[in-house]
Amino acid sequence: MSQFIGTKQQVVETVRELVQKGYLMATGGNISMRIPESDAFAITPSNLDYMVMKPEDVCILDFEQEKLEGKLKASVESGMHAAIYQVRKDVHAIIHTHQVYASALTLIRAPIPALFDEQARFLGRSVEIIPYGPSGTGMLKRKIVRHIRNHHNAYMMQNHGALIFGHDMERAVNNVEILEKCALAYLLAICSERKVSKIPLAVREIAFSKLREDQKKVAAGDFETGGE
Ligand code: 13P
Ligand code: ZN
Repeated sequence: MSQFIGTKQQVVETVRELVQKGYLMATGGNISMRIPESDAFAITPSNLDYMVMKPEDVCILDFEQEKLEGKLKASVESGMHAAIYQVRKDVHAIIHTHQVYASALTLIRAPIPALFDEQARFLGRSVEIIPYGPSGTGMLKRKIVRHIRNHHNAYMMQNHGALIFGHDMERAVNNVEILEKCALAYLLAICSERKVSKIPLAVREIAFSKLREDQKKVAAGDFETGGE
């Protein structure tokens, strides 16, 4: 039995939940979890139907993308996930989706400003658009690495989808839901062609500073991350 079985099970349970909630469709997207106190992570295999995925199908890779466990090909975005874990020590779970409303905003390259308190508290000051790079390429990975140093927990990838982080998987799933709510509300507001109001700057900054405090605790190792 794999020593990582608990993490693999959590990955499979999460993809099922995300399919049922409508955030993952067909085989689009991929998710991963950091293996605590190691340079390794668990990631979904490439191009496999989420509803048939089993824990043993989940791959364990090191940060050089060498496969430590798993028979199937790992996600084509494995390099992107590995790079994020290296740059962002506070991130323990990554969800990449093709969720519809956030994806729609990428088509008009509309970043989401701070619209709601919980958005600033959990996603960051805004949800930026990362310029287009083809799926699974080093070009896309490099563009992502350039953006994520601002410590936000959600980004939108131009003509592609969404990228969401959490200090654990439960938080990452919640962040997926917050992002989609913000994206839909913002799209509807834009469609009205009226001025869109934002939360006050001071409130945004206080909320974001709380997120940063949590992130610093996780990076320093004194915050429960829900890993094995
Ligand atoms: P994988 O099935 O290889 O994870 O690719 C899906 C995807 O969303 C690529 O960006
Ligand atoms: Zn994708």
